[in-house]
Amino acid sequence: MALIVQKYGGSSVSNPDRIKNVAARIVETKKEGNEVIAVVSALGKTTDELIALTKEITENASEREMDALLSTGEQISSALLTMAIHSLGEKAISLTGSQVGIYTDSAHRKARILDISSDKLKEELGKGNIIIVAGFQGIDENGNITTLGRGGSDTTAVALASAMKADVCEIYTDVDGVFAADPRVVKGAEKIDRVSYDEMLELASLGAKVLQLRAVEFGKKYGVKIHVRSSFVKDEGTLITEEIGDMEDPVVVGVTSDTDEAKITIVEVIDKPGIASKVFGALAESNVNVDVIVQNVSEQGKTDISFTLKRDELARADEVIKNVVGGVGSSGIKCDDEIAKVSIVGVGMKSHPGVAALMFKTLADAGINIEMISTSEIKISCIIERKHAKKAVQVLHEVFKPGKNKVLKNEKNS
Ligand code: ASP
Ligand code: MG
Repeated sequence: MALIVQKYGGSSVSNPDRIKNVAARIVETKKEGNEVIAVVSALGKTTDELIALTKEITENASEREMDALLSTGEQISSALLTMAIHSLGEKAISLTGSQVGIYTDSAHRKARILDISSDKLKEELGKGNIIIVAGFQGIDENGNITTLGRGGSDTTAVALASAMKADVCEIYTDVDGVFAADPRVVKGAEKIDRVSYDEMLELASLGAKVLQLRAVEFGKKYGVKIHVRSSFVKDEGTLITEEIGDMEDPVVVGVTSDTDEAKITIVEVIDKPGIASKVFGALAESNVNVDVIVQNVSEQGKTDISFTLKRDELARADEVIKNVVGGVGSSGIKCDDEIAKVSIVGVGMKSHPGVAALMFKTLADAGINIEMISTSEIKISCIIERKHAKKAVQVLHEVFKPGKNKVLKNEKNS
């Protein structure tokens, strides 16, 4: 008998009919002879609504109380889904994060899972129950409710699949899988059949909002096979597994854009050892995540340092930097809230030269200026003006034909 962990996102349970549809799908999986643990997100936009509601009460809600509040969304959906399964005549029980024993650190609103107890899950499966777990939540060592960050139900599911050694973790969503580009931006963008953990990590962190980054990290660390698929149709979706290292790997599997970043430039800092460490040390201490960093060639002992970060951390970072500016001899800070990051991703680029050159040429031909560049073995990102983000994704998709093109145009020509 296989053990299947499934996860249903908010849009898959946004109304009673959809909840019944999900219940039917879970029951079907059970009837096929499997044990099923399903993780569910809050109904529709519940989490956003709860956050908006708090803002009516206070601008600086306690993080602990935010978690107490936000975790209720998933408690509601898990109970309703369980009832829907009951009315189909199957045995099922809902469990919150704390009832399962999902232990996290105490970093409210972005807690990390430290340990999952399998006792309760095994006991309930043993009784023949389908288990519906409220996603996105756990408890810390003092019994405080914690949440795992936006999209955290994905991580709950993959972590449960790993703890229970499930055969597969199916992530059900409102799209057919992971796409080579956002279909709303690129007409005709296609679903990717198979992607490696590393490619998916790059795609996830670059703004392809299909899966929470941590879920993929978890999957990679513990080798959990993840299948992202639609809750509305039966078709296979996208399988996320380890890299096969096939010669036939496409050069690029995806083109993404992230429009949630902002850029800070610290002007004319002294060019001597310890400056970058002072700046980024202070940011790290305040828990600000920095992304692309560029330091200019120095002129007369001074240099500019620019970096990007999540837009909603801009104000906090600005405060932090203001406090260190004096200490690094800078003449000031510039904040730019109008940027976007476009990226191309693919393990195939490890073995294909000329990928970066072609990306830069493609953007240049479209009249798009590149402000910063960052690369990894399997990714190239460019920071550009936000107003060009859509266009950039479209032209890059057209030139690289992600998922398909195994030879680059300029390779063919040479
Ligand atoms: N309900 C939470 C959110 O909207 C968690 C999730 O959906 O995965 O972020
Ligand atoms: Mg999600």
